[in-house]
Amino acid sequence: MVQYHTGKQIHESKAAYKLAIRAMLEMKLYAQKLSKENDITIALARTPAETTAQRFAVSDLLHEEYKSKAATVIKGDLAAALQQIGKTKDLPIYYTNGTHVAVNADITLPERIGYEHTFFPVVDGGNILHIWLGEGSSRPEGLMDFAMQLAKNTQVGYFAFTRDMTVCTAEGSVSNGLHNKCPKCGSDKVQHLSRITGYLQAVEGWNAGKRQELKDRKRVEI
Ligand SMILES: [Zn+2]
Repeated sequence: MVQYHTGKQIHESKAAYKLAIRAMLEMKLYAQKLSKENDITIALARTPAETTAQRFAVSDLLHEEYKSKAATVIKGDLAAALQQIGKTKDLPIYYTNGTHVAVNADITLPERIGYEHTFFPVVDGGNILHIWLGEGSSRPEGLMDFAMQLAKNTQVGYFAFTRDMTVCTAEGSVSNGLHNKCPKCGSDKVQHLSRITGYLQAVEGWNAGKRQELKDRKRVEI
């Protein structure tokens, strides 16, 4: 939404970041107004949007009026999607989710946290900070220190460290990273595991949009 209106993503300009904050605060105030008027509690929450991130992008790309506009802000492999459009709705595209910075944004982890933690106090629940770890083994002490930093010095309320894994179904070993063959025995009977939104799952079950997001994720070492 902010990229469409300002021409920039949250991490690319102050105006885009400010518009995101403004939009969230307006929704928060509206939820409070409705709560008061109706004497019930209405929460403003970010949803995990397991399928919506892809579904909205595909719907907009299929729509005569919206497709040219959507194409300017859709994430993923738009060229591949345009080739397959009409044949399938399971396309390798998606929108960024909630107040998340794009998964492939070329910024450091502290910079990402700087943008995303702002929104935690605004929503009543559902928000999460994803930390996508690279293939290298992060030191447990490093992860512990980092988690303490997050808990003490930021407004991040909920976070997850995620490392991609390859499970060899031939002999049951688990390796770091996504491999087409088991690094230990060479078997191609492998299954990939990663976090889709909240949970670790087998990648084969994901839609094409989520599988594309997995490819696009910028990973970090801690
Ligand atoms: Zn193996």
